[in-house]
Amino acid sequence: MRKTTGSKGKVTDMAALRRKLAKSRARGMPKFLEDRGRRLLDAYLATSDTDGRPFRAMLGELASGEAARKLAAMTGAQLRSERPEELENAACTTGCAFCCILLEGDGGLITEAEATTLHTALAPLTGQPDGRAWNAHACAALDPETRLCRAYDARPTVCRSFISVDVDACRENAEGGDEDGSGMLGNHLDYLAVLALSRDLMRGTALVTTYSMQQITSAAVDGAPLDTAMKRARHKSSELEDTCADIGNSPS
Ligand code: SF4
Ligand code: SF4
Repeated sequence: MRKTTGSKGKVTDMAALRRKLAKSRARGMPKFLEDRGRRLLDAYLATSDTDGRPFRAMLGELASGEAARKLAAMTGAQLRSERPEELENAACTTGCAFCCILLEGDGGLITEAEATTLHTALAPLTGQPDGRAWNAHACAALDPETRLCRAYDARPTVCRSFISVDVDACRENAEGGDEDGSGMLGNHLDYLAVLALSRDLMRGTALVTTYSMQQITSAAVDGAPLDTAMKRARHKSSELEDTCADIGNSPS
């Protein structure tokens, strides 16, 4: 069961939730990205309210990170429809999987909802050869022969956002290099900002946690049940703030 905090700071209706959002912070995030995330999330809450979605369901989406995932998917679709230069020049092809070699062992930050979905998709594959048979650092969701993602429909936002215009740079980076040419599409910033705002917004109601993608995928294919895998993959609470701060500190 989700761990809840005390009653202090709890909100009980959509109007109060939106008032609290106006004061919420995406800690570590540059202010313009925090403001954009707040506008996106406020519009999402307003639309959900107009559509008559139950308030408790909305709280659940904020707590699990599902609101952040959905909003990033929406802004990502908008971005793709505008056909930006990096997409027009993308080097990505089916079976090209250097970006699925996760040298630092974490694989990137994912939400509770994404971690649960990934585990559900991968658990039936326990015992089958996985990406680590191709490369010791590869994501366990990868097929070692075809180099295709075996959880493609369940892959998290961090995987959907990654793109490169230079496959040679990806190959070198997979061997420990530091070449330019690859990175996240802009909608990933929306994801992080909305997730960080959701955490602040839900303070006093529920804990918004983040997880390591690589830890969840490897635990799932190694046969760990969901609760064990989630415990193993759960980040320290500082991980989200540090990830947001890295964006603020990175050269524009
Ligand atoms: S990000 Fe790099 S490694 Fe991944 S599919 Fe694109 S070109 Fe290939
Ligand atoms: S989940 Fe799929 S797309 Fe993401 S790193 Fe793993 S194999 Fe690659």
